[in-house]
Amino acid sequence: MSVAEFIDSLLAGRTADLYLDGRWTPASGGATFAVEDPATGKVITEVAEGTAADGQAALAAADAAQAAWGATTPRERADILRGAFDLITAHADDFARLITAEMGKSLAEARGEVAYGAEFLRWFSEEAVRIDGRYGTLPSGKLQMMVDRRPVGPSLLITPWNFPLAMATRKLGPALAAGCTTIVKPAELTPLTTLAVAKVFEEVGVPAGVINVLTTTDPAATTGPLLSDLRLRKLSFTGSTPVGKALLAQAAEGVLRCSMELGGSAPFIVFEDADLDAAVEGAIAAKTRNIGEACTAANRFLVHRDVHDEFVERFAARMGALRVGAGDEPSTDLGPLIDDRSRVRVHGLVTDAVERGARVVVGGDLPDGPGHFYPATVLAGVSAEARVVTEEIFGPVAPVQVFSDEDEAVALANSTEYGLVGYVYTPDLDRVMRVAPRLQFGMLGVNAGVVSDPAAPFGGVKHSGLGREGGREGIDEYLEYQYVGIAR
Ligand code: NAD
Repeated sequence: MSVAEFIDSLLAGRTADLYLDGRWTPASGGATFAVEDPATGKVITEVAEGTAADGQAALAAADAAQAAWGATTPRERADILRGAFDLITAHADDFARLITAEMGKSLAEARGEVAYGAEFLRWFSEEAVRIDGRYGTLPSGKLQMMVDRRPVGPSLLITPWNFPLAMATRKLGPALAAGCTTIVKPAELTPLTTLAVAKVFEEVGVPAGVINVLTTTDPAATTGPLLSDLRLRKLSFTGSTPVGKALLAQAAEGVLRCSMELGGSAPFIVFEDADLDAAVEGAIAAKTRNIGEACTAANRFLVHRDVHDEFVERFAARMGALRVGAGDEPSTDLGPLIDDRSRVRVHGLVTDAVERGARVVVGGDLPDGPGHFYPATVLAGVSAEARVVTEEIFGPVAPVQVFSDEDEAVALANSTEYGLVGYVYTPDLDRVMRVAPRLQFGMLGVNAGVVSDPAAPFGGVKHSGLGREGGREGIDEYLEYQYVGIAR
């Protein structure tokens, strides 16, 4: 079956199997679970319900494949990654249809995710051949020192539902480039795209056991026991901060290398000297990309008193003009939220803010079903205690707060446990150089509403996580140092 046939068959309702040790196989218990289209609530297809026994089989396969995969030449690994990039790119439209069907984003956004996600495979195909070490003499002169870099070993990669392709490739790219074998546990809401990525790797000849895909609605039972198994050496998790904290505690048992890409609460700061056209454009991108369901989404708009009213008016006019609809309608700007729980939660944040004195400038109504739609919403006069400010929104809702000077802007921006990304609008580079070191975020966009790129180190500080994905730094997460001392 070709990649296109594989994707078409899933969209036509063929039950999806697990991918274990190079074979497509039903779950050991024979059970399946349903994956739904969030625009209609209808079931797309059933997917294998992986069990604890399947988790053990995945780890056994990854462990058995590790020695040979770690011993492949960097060029062999690079060629496989480059082949997968080419094949995904050749099937960009098929992947986009699959992403839209299971996740809801518009086809245009899904195509954007395919390009972004595939690029991690090309980027790390180029990094695979640049893993270096060093050589020298100890100060005492007694030993020659050789420092080499080795793959960490079998890695468990757990991904969220909001970027079903890119979150998988952002981990698979560096893991495979470094020579690690993997078990991918995709989110239960969007497992189909990851299975199609595994199909691509199968087509380009990745050896059996190097990639295993474990779908399940019960990750605690399926992957939980692996965290204390000595064969597993690495956990890379992208998801919510509470789950990330729980997994870090469990990973302590296995003394695992951990990379954690967790939640965010990005401030979007508009200074009084900002170009308001650019700020409104950036605000739309930072707020509504991926329907607001992004860890990088602007969560708090902090606007200087002098430009507040004009910014709110212009931003609200643009937000109000966005068209809400099914992702596969060409006119759609904002697809549905991922599920009804999410929609009810987002509406609850709006209601809470209004009860605490916020004004709804645009949006704010809960539309009727079917589909989990929510309109682009702007709230002004939002209290610092409102949950829409203190929690991660994960929807197209923009709370605006006012500040009077630089110190207040920095203090408000930093008043969160999160530290993933921040956005700053000002033409004054002196100001940028002053505030950047004071802003406690792993990434900053200056006059830019989107900063993610496979060539840049993506990641946060504080409770937003540990480690970096992408960039030259991304591969470090999957490499260990080995020091060899050689007597002279
Ligand atoms: P989530 O934490 O609910 O789930 C993430 C993944 O963890 C899913 O695959 C889920 O099945 C799995 N999981 C849940 N409990 C588990 C357990 N006990 N053991 C093992 N796996 C378990 O998050 P979500 O709702 O899928 O995604 C949204 C969250 O992800 C948001 O907080 C968002 O900010 C964050 N996110 C962060 C980044 C980043 O790079 N920092 C990127 C995308 C999303």
